Amino acid sequence: MGALYSASDIEVLTAESVPTHPYIARLGPDTLDTALTPAEVAERTLSAPFHRRQFATLLLDQGFLGGIGNYLRTEILYVAGIHPSKRPVDCTAEQIAAFAAAALALPQQSYRHNGITNDLALATHLKQTGYRRRDYRHWAFGRQGKPCHRCGNTIAKIMIGGRRCYICPQCQRLN
Ligand SMILES: [Zn+2]
Repeated sequence: MGALYSASDIEVLTAESVPTHPYIARLGPDTLDTALTPAEVAERTLSAPFHRRQFATLLLDQGFLGGIGNYLRTEILYVAGIHPSKRPVDCTAEQIAAFAAAALALPQQSYRHNGITNDLALATHLKQTGYRRRDYRHWAFGRQGKPCHRCGNTIAKIMIGGRRCYICPQCQRLN
């Protein structure tokens, strides 16, 4: 005999929604926790539940790391030089280290500096030379068609994981 459930207690979960359902997903460590170290983030990134998932979807999963919204997803991958279609297992040790450092540094800088994820000195310089906030605030997010701050190539907008993401095709190569 099965247990009886009230129909109102039962939600139909699609395969897509299960990982993010609040009663199922366990929250990952919060990137604003200053006690969290890049080594711990790197270890988590390379662990079995996460290492074969695309960074694009991994970064939107609060069960992986907490506190990363869509613009931080773009910015962390840009700073780490990682294409969002890549998986942790596809990356070099240097890329994983760069990712882990950026996954902590960018949310923490953004929290303390009014949402600015760009290099702070560069952002100040750009502001003084007449750039508007939307053009100096981020490295790549929202900057499609504009030159990459690092290499001058054109920033592209792509849809991945159902959300918009911005990449530099030169700084974030697939291969
Ligand atoms: Zn670039």
